Amino acid sequence: MRKIILLSAFIFPLVVFSQIKKAPEVKEGEGPYTQLIIRGVILINGTGAPPIGPMDIVIEKNRIIQIVGLGNPGAPVNPEKRPKLKDGGKELNCEGMYALPGFIDMHGHIGGKEQGTPAEYVFKLWMAHGITTIRDPSCGNGLDWVLDEKQKSAQNLITAPRIFAYTVFGQGAKQPITTVEQTQEWVRDNAKKGADGIKFFGAPPEIMDAAIRENKKLGLRSCCHHAQMDVARWNVLNSARAGMTSMEHWYGLPEALFTDKTIQNYPLNYNYANEQNRFEEAGNLWKQAAPPYSEHWIKVMNELLSLDFTIDPTFNIYDANRDLQRTRRAEWHETYTLPSLWKFYEPSLVSHGAYWINWGTEQEIAWKENYRLWMTFINEYKNRGGRVTTGSDNGFIYQTYGFGYIRELELLREAGFHPLEVIRSATLYGAQALGMDKEIGSVEPGKLADLVILDANPLENLQYLYGTGAIYMNEKNEVVRKGGVKYTIKDGIIYDAKKLLADVKKMVDDEKAKTGFKITQPGM
Ligand SMILES: [Zn+2]
Repeated sequence: MRKIILLSAFIFPLVVFSQIKKAPEVKEGEGPYTQLIIRGVILINGTGAPPIGPMDIVIEKNRIIQIVGLGNPGAPVNPEKRPKLKDGGKELNCEGMYALPGFIDMHGHIGGKEQGTPAEYVFKLWMAHGITTIRDPSCGNGLDWVLDEKQKSAQNLITAPRIFAYTVFGQGAKQPITTVEQTQEWVRDNAKKGADGIKFFGAPPEIMDAAIRENKKLGLRSCCHHAQMDVARWNVLNSARAGMTSMEHWYGLPEALFTDKTIQNYPLNYNYANEQNRFEEAGNLWKQAAPPYSEHWIKVMNELLSLDFTIDPTFNIYDANRDLQRTRRAEWHETYTLPSLWKFYEPSLVSHGAYWINWGTEQEIAWKENYRLWMTFINEYKNRGGRVTTGSDNGFIYQTYGFGYIRELELLREAGFHPLEVIRSATLYGAQALGMDKEIGSVEPGKLADLVILDANPLENLQYLYGTGAIYMNEKNEVVRKGGVKYTIKDGIIYDAKKLLADVKKMVDDEKAKTGFKITQPGM
């Protein structure tokens, strides 16, 4: 999401940045250590392998060095078989806990002025949910701002995930880009400045084509939200053929699947700037596309597969469209949604993604059907070997950072993914899509030490990954909370995930105290 999708890349240079507060330079994690041994975990390594354990994982500084199996679960462990702790080393007893690779959020906006969310708030919610890498798709706070936070995160001067910066096409250009030469110049300049890629929203075909090709030539990656304003002349197939590496959301895919029309069946009084129009009609889009498993549907899918194209569906960010009340009343809002962010979510003609003008049963049922068709495509894409990744697009539409990402995992599960397939999408596939799979994305010797550790099996219930954990009743008929990430390890540095959440809660409490804010029900 972002408001700028209302504009074409051509008038983007007119948009002035509104930047949020950078994260403070405070050392909050412990480590890295000359040697860190994580003892006795059950490992889900991210490659699609089933859980195995108990294991000892040996890390030196920020690298995984060795992973040692300790035999059958429950059998006595021979201490001789365990890796020895060296002088100055650190042991982390994780007996019976589960370890996974650090998660990758492929669609992570670092908040904005409209949401009033300082970077510390966003970063801590991500890290508290095991997210150790994010891709910022548009650099809404400006490329320099993002690159500065990226640098500090790389040096672990701030508590933040690794950052990949994909600048929105045209950002910072002194004049509208109208020629192929200007396009290539902007792309080269973007690479020179240190961006990792480009995020598009659409542009005239010759500009899109030139930009994607030039960017690819430079070895950078690209993604696109194929917004309605340009999708009639350039959809995901055009992008994939030109060498784009990933698509965001769903935009541009049903359009590539049309067989009996070339333009979405807009009502004649539709206005794209009216967000109720935009999102309501989007809910009627998948049923205008070729039906699942039809000849054209399969042909388009196979071509995208042959181009090694990544799909980053961001299911969660449209979840409110099919059940507004559920999303609005999610149990974490009171404690972890910043008042300014809550205000941004509330029905409004001004905020982006607050289009609840007249939203009810009819819109929600249409969106439920829309999801069924969309999910069928995504699941089959995965079944045929396609790369589907996990992006949250959070900070919009009642999806709060971190929590919305875990919801995304649940929605891949709903689409038909096995929980191990979900975890692979969240880890190894994200790393591949970023071109980083030699360094991150799985727990294997030689890779960077990015791990998520929790006290419950996330395959049995993905909800254990929510910061709030999941409701669970013990033998004494007491309701307790199970799960929530315990440790997030990035670069061999151990962060207490519950402490990060407590910091976020304090930020929320402080803002509430200052403003006297309470979550209320609109109009009641
Ligand atoms: Zn977005």
